[in-house]
Amino acid sequence: PAEPELEALQHADVARLLPVPGAESDKYRRGVVGVAAGSARYPGAAVLAVAGALRGGAGAVRYAGPAARDVIARFPETLVSDRGPKHAGRVQAWVVGPGAGDDAGPVAEVLAADVPALIDADGLRLADASAVRDRRAPTLLTPHAGEAAALLGVEREEVEAGRLAAARELAGRYGATVLLKGSTTLVADPEDGDGTAVRVNPTGTSWLATAGSGDVLSGLTGSLLAAGLPARDAGSVAAYLHGLAGRHAADGAPVGAHDVAEAIPGAWRDVM
Ligand code: AMP
Ligand code: MG
Repeated sequence: PAEPELEALQHADVARLLPVPGAESDKYRRGVVGVAAGSARYPGAAVLAVAGALRGGAGAVRYAGPAARDVIARFPETLVSDRGPKHAGRVQAWVVGPGAGDDAGPVAEVLAADVPALIDADGLRLADASAVRDRRAPTLLTPHAGEAAALLGVEREEVEAGRLAAARELAGRYGATVLLKGSTTLVADPEDGDGTAVRVNPTGTSWLATAGSGDVLSGLTGSLLAAGLPARDAGSVAAYLHGLAGRHAADGAPVGAHDVAEAIPGAWRDVM
């Protein structure tokens, strides 16, 4: 029989993958996640990505970018710098792009770093496709349907009508893992063409359709990458937790993205 094309993420799989620190762990072993996000125009994206990253299991969050003052005012535990990613100290995984505006510099610097990298939002538009393909370390792209359509050069409706095909096509073109966001989120690996199923996250809620929600997901996912999860697992676990956090936070009523970030620990406890 043919392999199934889609595989729903299971609670037990996510539980097994959660990075729980051992008794002998320390913050460096847990991993340092770098966040290069935000701009003078969109400082909030930096704050929300850091908010997600702080709840994702890395031992420390390092922020590099123009919203350093906003980030430190909200989250004193963050290591901040207003210089670019290439000047940052040791980082085990980077998140780049949310609220980045038009500055392609941070994206190029992150792509040149030999550690796992997540590219989201404006970063997707600014990233050089061949620089992504040439990376040795894993890359994770996290577009919503509109961003995926722009990367593929098609209309958004085409992506909506064929989400599985779009995720696979992007993964193949970029040689990257693709997390295609939406009411159901798909996670496709570049090797998925050889019979590996694309994962689908069942936990989302439409209350997550709110500004900044994706920025929280990016930070959360980056933190899991820094903790050592492979890109496919980091994306899967993050989508699952983010969906549960949305349910916790909303509980049947509207919420802001920062509420979703604050609900991540509760989602984590549900899974453990
Ligand atoms: P972004 O568009 O980058 O802000 O990301 C939006 C986030 O909310 C993604 O994680 C989506 O999967 C999620 N989301 C958006 N709309 C829905 C929906 N109708 N149902 C469930 N999740 C959604
Ligand atoms: Mg977004």
